Amino acid sequence: MADWVLYGAALLVGALLGSFLNVVISRLPRSAGLVEAEGRPSGLAYPPSQCEACGRRLRPFDLIPVLSYILLRGRCRTCGAEIGIRHLLVEIGGSLLGVATVYLAPSALALAAIGILFFMLLALTVIDAETGFLPDRLTLPLLALGLGFSFAPFTPSPVQSFIGALVGGGGLWLLAFAYRLFRGREGLGGGDVKLVAAGGAWCGAVALPALLLIASVTGLLFALFQMVGGRKERALSAELRFGPFLCAAIALTYTAELLELFAPG
Ligand SMILES: [Zn+2]
Repeated sequence: MADWVLYGAALLVGALLGSFLNVVISRLPRSAGLVEAEGRPSGLAYPPSQCEACGRRLRPFDLIPVLSYILLRGRCRTCGAEIGIRHLLVEIGGSLLGVATVYLAPSALALAAIGILFFMLLALTVIDAETGFLPDRLTLPLLALGLGFSFAPFTPSPVQSFIGALVGGGGLWLLAFAYRLFRGREGLGGGDVKLVAAGGAWCGAVALPALLLIASVTGLLFALFQMVGGRKERALSAELRFGPFLCAAIALTYTAELLELFAPG
């Protein structure tokens, strides 16, 4: 198959997966009881996609990724409610991740593994940014899948993976415990602990320092930018939502391993 056909398909499938992810991102926190449902749908697949404001069922024409958003100028066709730029960004992000997955994958099994990792991280990133939660329903399967795929030839060895999960999750749990002890309030959530365990499982123990360094540096830079931007109170008072930076760090570390920038062992 010509390369451009393959990458064209990846772009399209990625956008469609992004479109599906938008529904999951909206509904999973409600379905898991993390945020109020307020009469809005919380089933992940049922009812089918509908406007969050007026409940109108979306027709196939409204469901074309990216194009529908642009043609409708980001508004519901019936009630005019704003659809939210997040929907467009997740669809575009899905396209880019689709292309990256095809580019990085050395085999069909790797294609599945990388795709699952990237899209679950995208969902976790947006859910944490919007709600402040990293749902167990995503972090725990991600951890299990990381351990499972370690038996495939393109990932860290099972030993690396299991030690990575144990040391990553355990280390962060200790850090969270110490923070609670000394500051008397929650600094890192349990979701962060499970996410780092999953990151250790996917990337291996040897990669953990790099992974945590990337997440901390990008997280601190972001907090600094918020302070410089005059949002000092918000940056300091709000608990730092670490999830998005952890997700980005896991994706980057795993990508570096696939490109053999450093050997996971
Ligand atoms: Zn509507």
